[in-house]
Amino acid sequence: MQIIDARSLVPKDKKGRELRKRTKKIKRIVIHHGATKQGLDGTNYLSYLSFHINNLGWSTGGYTFGINDDGSILQGYDIDVITNHVGNYNGDSLGIVLAGDFRVEEPTPEQWNALYWLLNHLKSLLGDVEIVGHSEVPGYSWKPCPSLDMNQIRRNAANYSEKEIKIEVPKQIGGVQTMSLLKRGDKSPDVKTLQENLNTLGHQSGTPDGIFGAKTEAAVKSFQRASNLTVDGIAGPQTLGKIDALLKQKNKVTAPKKESATFTLGGRKYTIQEV
Ligand SMILES: [Zn+2]
Repeated sequence: MQIIDARSLVPKDKKGRELRKRTKKIKRIVIHHGATKQGLDGTNYLSYLSFHINNLGWSTGGYTFGINDDGSILQGYDIDVITNHVGNYNGDSLGIVLAGDFRVEEPTPEQWNALYWLLNHLKSLLGDVEIVGHSEVPGYSWKPCPSLDMNQIRRNAANYSEKEIKIEVPKQIGGVQTMSLLKRGDKSPDVKTLQENLNTLGHQSGTPDGIFGAKTEAAVKSFQRASNLTVDGIAGPQTLGKIDALLKQKNKVTAPKKESATFTLGGRKYTIQEV
């Protein structure tokens, strides 16, 4: 496997702003999807960067690396350059985007393979870093990005070896991330996401700390009661699915509007949407 050096192909910032260098050690690798469907002209790494720079006026595109649907891995920025993808966390986060819209489709086998290879390659370069999905970064739990099962991705990345590729393909059901059952006594980033989501939906679980205690259980029960679900205080597929559906609805009303735009690159017309 190899990385294609795309640094000279990334559009230049029209305002000529200097690339910002990291002053902090990279703590996490953040996985995104491009939120445009595979097979469209604009569904590739360089088009996403071009959209960010030329259409949205950002000083850099969002991601250091991109994996296209044919499994090619492209690098648009040096690892020590800060790119715009997770707000306040850009300084110590490295972004990877997979071309595609995983709310409605799945990464290709080539993309999965390239992703696991790249994650392992980066871990060997960067040492101990976390691997998270965009929606797992604090403040982004509302964002359906990358709409993939991150627990399974972390497991597969840990089990990956280039010679013998055994990959359990992450499941995705109708755009809802599959999550394990969450119940009292659990401690995990998924619990934290659940707490944030319950709070957002008005069922107060206290300060999101990733620990499923009495308050979280009460909030889950309150949510289940309000949603006419079995009231058992356990967040399983039904409860998590309902939360997801309500957040999506809420999102439509309150989230900043996603802009889609058309632009031309190399004589071709692309339509893409903000990620
Ligand atoms: Zn994202």
